[in-house]
Amino acid sequence: MMLRQLQYFHTVVQTGSFTEAAEQCFISQSAISQQIKALENDLGVKLLIRENRSFSLTEAGEYLYHKSEQLLEDFERIKNKTIKIGISFHDKAVVLEQILTEYPQIEVVQIQFNYVDYDDTAVESRKCYEICRKYGKPIIVMEPVKGGNLVNLPESAKNIFEELGENSPASYAIRFAAGFEGIDIVLSGMSSYEQMVDNISYMKDFQPLNNTEMEAVKKVQEIFKGMNLIPCTACRYCEAGCPKKISIPDLFAVMNTKQIYHDWNADYYYNNVHTTQGRKASDCIKCGKCEKACPQHLKIRKLLEDVVKEFEK
Ligand code: SF4
Ligand code: SF4
Repeated sequence: MMLRQLQYFHTVVQTGSFTEAAEQCFISQSAISQQIKALENDLGVKLLIRENRSFSLTEAGEYLYHKSEQLLEDFERIKNKTIKIGISFHDKAVVLEQILTEYPQIEVVQIQFNYVDYDDTAVESRKCYEICRKYGKPIIVMEPVKGGNLVNLPESAKNIFEELGENSPASYAIRFAAGFEGIDIVLSGMSSYEQMVDNISYMKDFQPLNNTEMEAVKKVQEIFKGMNLIPCTACRYCEAGCPKKISIPDLFAVMNTKQIYHDWNADYYYNNVHTTQGRKASDCIKCGKCEKACPQHLKIRKLLEDVVKEFEK
């Protein structure tokens, strides 16, 4: 806050006017006046002598004004070195290329990147990655474990990784993403202390996947391809606008669970946990609001019809 107040004070003195300073700082005149009073209170000295509609500087005000110039310049320099302009991207690679061409000032790009979406025709992880590389943009990875889908693996996939040793399924997914050139950060999206400890154990002295591990990942990719799962990442962006308050990602999750584990428990969850109070998939009025919000471009209305067939027959 002190820095912001200093900026206000500096602008007021520089422009010689509270009105003009307020305009430049995009706040009201009374707010800028209050902030300068707060600065005076914090410092315990008077900085300005207000005289009707004008003002003059006290000795302390003169001193602070000259000092603040250097301070604010230093801050700008630090800010420019540490803050990067970036985008979080959820669309086709061709759109990413268009954006990076039109806005070269973008310095970093966040993309969805994991071994299942790598060649997925809807997400286009690999293509988006290649565009970032082509334009020399550092990459931040989101969804490396695909909303938990690469942690809770189907039995056949789990067995493949278990044959390699005791590393967690998450470790293969995160090391897969982190092992590519130009990936600066992988947002692991973990939700417990234990998961964080697990993350640190293999990222502390990071090693990309070796050939054997990469082969195992390829086999798991094939298993996922054969399962025809709903590629929902549970981001929940679709929920807020749904007039029927349908718990879309939860319904897709039970659908996937049933597909992966043939789990009868999925029916219990569908009927007794996620669809109470008129929120069944069949309550969908097909308004399409959810689809406009879905970064995965899922055909939610059609998928909910499949959910109805599976759970409400
Ligand atoms: S299409 Fe169905 S699920 Fe989507 S917002 Fe409308 S009512 Fe909700
Ligand atoms: S917005 Fe799309 S990906 Fe996100 S939870 Fe909804 S259906 Fe799933």
